[in-house]
Amino acid sequence: MNTPSRNCALCPRLVALREECRAAEPDWFNAPVPSFGTLDAKLLVVGLAPGRNGANRTGRPFTGDYAGVLLYNTLVAKGFARGTYGERPDDGLTLVDCRITNAVRCLPPDNKPLPLEIRTCRQYLIDEINAMTKLKAIMALGRVAHESVVATLGGKQRHFPFAHGAAHHVTDHLTLFDSYHCSRYNTNTGRLTTEMFESVVQTIRERLG
Ligand code: URA
Repeated sequence: MNTPSRNCALCPRLVALREECRAAEPDWFNAPVPSFGTLDAKLLVVGLAPGRNGANRTGRPFTGDYAGVLLYNTLVAKGFARGTYGERPDDGLTLVDCRITNAVRCLPPDNKPLPLEIRTCRQYLIDEINAMTKLKAIMALGRVAHESVVATLGGKQRHFPFAHGAAHHVTDHLTLFDSYHCSRYNTNTGRLTTEMFESVVQTIRERLG
């Protein structure tokens, strides 16, 4: 499987930010964040991109990011993870039949990757999905992840509009489940509640058995 190197140079703006972070915080991870979980999982969770003080610092998706608390606690509650999420990569948490990745692997300025950066990084998402031979379900966290997954699977965006709670049969073998992103902004504004998020993961649990 093709994965980005620590010094992936495909997106100049993201490289510049990475260099800034390396200079300011030399002990942080500061590189494309690898996916978490095994490739034989049935569920792939796709986030947006690492947060500066979270995954970019720790090197594990959503780890140390505010969004990780709701994500990992819900995965534990629904049996897709085992252990206790401790906001650090050595917390002993393991994923069960689940893998987590991001639509964009590097930290973007203001948490907003550009369309070209999303398209450029998609080659890694394509490889990731192709390598997951038992994959049955993808949970997209937010519209950017949703659209990148639809493009990866060769679907037409207008046939598969993003909607929280929607389940899209993009291919014969794969269902794409949408959730609003579990970001601090969405949870603080009430756009996404714990119950709404748990309900999407519960639906996936029932579908996968
Ligand atoms: N951290 C990640 O790794 N991905 C997100 O989408 C948000 C926070």
